Amino acid sequence: MTESQVSVEMLDVRLLINGEWVSGSEGNRLTIIDPATNSPCGHVAVASERDLANAVAAAEEGFNAWRNIPPFQRATILGKAATLLRERAGDIAADLSAEQGKPFAQAKHEVSGAADVIEWFAEEGKRCFGQVIPGRTTDTHTLTRLEPIGPVAAFTPWNFPVSQAVKKVAAALAAGCSIILKGPEEAPGACAGMMKCFADAGLPSGSVGLLYGNPAEISNYLVAHDSIRCVTLTGSVAVGKTVASLAGRYMKPVVMELGGHAPVIVCEDADLDLAVEQLVKMKFLNAGQVCLSPTRFLVARKIYDDFVSRFRERAVALKIDAGDNPEADMGPLASQRRIESMEALVADAIEVGATLKCGGQRLERTGCFFMPTVLSNVPTEARAMNEEPFGPVALIRPFDTVEEALVEANRLPFGLASYIFTNSIQTEAFLTENIQAGMVAVNRIFSSNIEAPFSGVKDSGYGTEGGTFAIRNFLTEKMITRFVG
Ligand code: NAD
Repeated sequence: MTESQVSVEMLDVRLLINGEWVSGSEGNRLTIIDPATNSPCGHVAVASERDLANAVAAAEEGFNAWRNIPPFQRATILGKAATLLRERAGDIAADLSAEQGKPFAQAKHEVSGAADVIEWFAEEGKRCFGQVIPGRTTDTHTLTRLEPIGPVAAFTPWNFPVSQAVKKVAAALAAGCSIILKGPEEAPGACAGMMKCFADAGLPSGSVGLLYGNPAEISNYLVAHDSIRCVTLTGSVAVGKTVASLAGRYMKPVVMELGGHAPVIVCEDADLDLAVEQLVKMKFLNAGQVCLSPTRFLVARKIYDDFVSRFRERAVALKIDAGDNPEADMGPLASQRRIESMEALVADAIEVGATLKCGGQRLERTGCFFMPTVLSNVPTEARAMNEEPFGPVALIRPFDTVEEALVEANRLPFGLASYIFTNSIQTEAFLTENIQAGMVAVNRIFSSNIEAPFSGVKDSGYGTEGGTFAIRNFLTEKMITRFVG
């Protein structure tokens, strides 16, 4: 049996409250749908208000226990969680592929990468020092201590159910905080598998919690609760604004990793083979359901026709199938709703004048499969040019000057990822300095390594989830000044 043939039993996803995996006090549950077959592949427990209260009480106790464990010991326990995650990566990836649709190899990569994230933050947790600040007079002594902020509430999406969640959980725990994660109901199994590695590694019960249920009810309860001291969310701009407003009302600091609408600028001096090869790979990764997905392709007029035809040729050659086919490049979209959304965006783009080069429709088979789609000469008023499509749709339009491309790149309120392809150092410098984005990839696509910052500007959010500053989201700096004279 090859790894990709690992069979997935019906998932029975429970809540993690105070170290116990429970079904929820009211016994309610939601069905999980396999998007490759449109059939149920399991169910997930729904938290009641009593469960929420229990989870918060446990997180408070868990915080008091965990924060008092010295950082080196915490790092050892977190390291054990990473080891367990690596050992269980095949099974967790099989669940992920079944419930979310991505090819098994990509799911496995996501889970193994999550173990790297835990190890990175475990080490960072050892380096949370304060400062000693010379006094203005010889009889004063001032210093700072970095302290864990307290129990954290985290909310994460379904597109990368393991890798989005682990960045929050590992960073908060490494800082000495406890954390309650509200994972994605659409793809809850792999996220639960990852959380089980933390629970089994020997963390104090209550220091990690996992909830599913009604997202608005859970956020209303957790964010408002006095015990919760920090809120972190990865998701859409609309939900981010709702939750950030709520957090503002209760004076809770937030980290917001929200949607994007990444511009791609392909200049006339770019290496076209490289640009097409890299961009096709990134555009159709996870069926385009990626916050970093290249979306508005702005291509210099001189190379425009060539780019469109080469991009199209590669897009139609992709193999689309269920995640358990090792040959599949792209799996189904996550749900029927996403198919309908793609159909509506494509129809609208054509109506306002775009040309359909390939795809544009669902595959004639069971499951949520949508063809890789390329639209050219897409007017800026098309809905897809303004709303995050979050699907396998490339929108291409020509530009005459780099300045004009920059204006289009910066037109939208989003500011997450951006891509530049050029062989001119001057053009690169001009664009990287002036593009309004948290991240810019030049002649490359992103690989989101945890040691590098990951963040957006404008409506795409604030706070970073990678790099040396990410752990600071979960720390407060206490200043202590003493009279020593
Ligand atoms: P979403 O905003 O619908 O949901 C995100 C999380 O918030 C989920 O856990 C969801 O259940 C929860 N949620 C939904 N409504 C809520 C509410 N009213 N109150 C509290 N929580 C609520 O996003 P999604 O559809 O799960 O994910 C796709 C979005 O996530 C896209 O916009 C994508 O760009 C974005 N995303 C951003 C990043 C990033 O790092 N910037 C990474 C991945 C995905």
